[in-house]
Amino acid sequence: MSEFQEKIDHFVELQKKHKNIQKNTTVKYRIAKLRKFKQAIVKRQGQIELALKEDFSKAEAETILTEIFPVISMINYTIKSLHKWSKPKKISNNLFFLGAKTYIHYEAKGNVLVISPWNYPFQLALYPMLTAFSAGNTVILKPSEFTPKTNEILRQLISDVFESHEVVLIEGEVKETQALLDKNFDHIFFTGSTPVGKIVMNKASQHLASVGLELGGKSPVVIDSQVDLEDAAKKIAWGKFVNAGQTCVAPDYILAHKDIYDDLVQLLKKEIQNLYPNIESNDDYCQIINDSHFERLNELIEEAKKMGAIIEYGGHKLNERKLEPTLLSGVHNEMRVMQEEIFGPILPLIKVDDCEQMVAFINAKDNPLSLYAFSRSKEFIEKIRQQTSSGGYSVNETILHVASSSLPFGGAGNSGIGRYHGFHGFEEMSNIRAVLKRKSNWGLHYFYPPYTKNIKKVLDVVLKKFSSFV
Ligand code: NAD
Repeated sequence: MSEFQEKIDHFVELQKKHKNIQKNTTVKYRIAKLRKFKQAIVKRQGQIELALKEDFSKAEAETILTEIFPVISMINYTIKSLHKWSKPKKISNNLFFLGAKTYIHYEAKGNVLVISPWNYPFQLALYPMLTAFSAGNTVILKPSEFTPKTNEILRQLISDVFESHEVVLIEGEVKETQALLDKNFDHIFFTGSTPVGKIVMNKASQHLASVGLELGGKSPVVIDSQVDLEDAAKKIAWGKFVNAGQTCVAPDYILAHKDIYDDLVQLLKKEIQNLYPNIESNDDYCQIINDSHFERLNELIEEAKKMGAIIEYGGHKLNERKLEPTLLSGVHNEMRVMQEEIFGPILPLIKVDDCEQMVAFINAKDNPLSLYAFSRSKEFIEKIRQQTSSGGYSVNETILHVASSSLPFGGAGNSGIGRYHGFHGFEEMSNIRAVLKRKSNWGLHYFYPPYTKNIKKVLDVVLKKFSSFV
């Protein structure tokens, strides 16, 4: 047996034995741990910033904004709300439940496996891990193999606060992750690509583990002719090029009304320059995570060019795996850049005639994780919402909905299964147990067989009354 297999056998067994104790930890205990975790993050802030810098040259300010803030705000919100979320909820019921009380109890699922990606390696590991812990689960966290420095900090933070029987970090590549997936977990929470999400779901089905799949896809932006175009360009440029486009909810492509298309291209160029002046030496703009993703992105540009696309802006490889923010026009659906999730700083723009064409274009593809509409027209905004489907829908804004602790976050269809953030995450990581309590003596036994004529008569009367309600 390999050393890794022995390691996972050990931790899985350890957490299995501990599951019932963990499940019955008090809210007070969990809140105390969350507070301690927050303090550990604050103490190690400099190390966290350095780790992300070393992994993919992420600017310190961006690490604070997009990695540390979301986790701290998640902890604060959970500390404030956990008592309320955890309380059994009394449920009203109908006539047949006379004399009985019914409740929903939120109980831990048990042993949870969290698998996280590299693109926001700090927050996308900790957010689900802390959510699972807050709901009373034990957690094994398997972060991405592409961010070793961040993983080291995650390991230290976890061991600052948790015993390995409640939360432990295990690193590994594909083979190791699959060995973990062969184990019998109660819930698997996966954030990553759609193809790997399918592998995870397949593996989970062997043990009927429930799954939360936070996946990707092509998130479109639609822009109406009635719009504050400068504002739209500013928000799109930021939402697209933050983290060099390596954001699951980043605008993937734009469908712009023909009346504003040319102005939009010019405004986007201006906004890119405003955000990232002197791009060659700009430390605010991060790297592509590794050589293979860097090559993949360059291939997308090269193929699109060969097939007739025009580079409106950028398109150059910069030093140290940095790729210039790139605007492409003249793209079509036969190009790879319009088929696969881009997940990098390339933004294709497509000119369209009207709202109907936008809807048809979006609906011909898989449901996206997010959809962004820019318009002043209520009718346009509602039409796009009603006639399409996606995990999230933002109007006159990009990517910000992800930062909300109270909005549910997740995909639809190919972009994911399940929701998290705030109460939605707590619920996702809980077994929602239906509890009925009846005082002895009371019950439906008056209506048990043998079914006498009197029983039938009473039931007839009750049914008549019952049917006339509402
Ligand atoms: P990925 O699917 O390649 O990897 C994610 C995790 O799965 C990693 O921990 C990795 O080690 C593991 N993994 C990879 N291949 C595997 C396999 N064959 N079997 C088992 N495990 C495997 O994703 P990534 O490249 O790390 O992240 C990018 C993707 O994640 C994009 O598609 C992006 O949209 C998506 N994403 C989604 C969200 C969300 O919240 N919906 C957030 C961030 C990223």
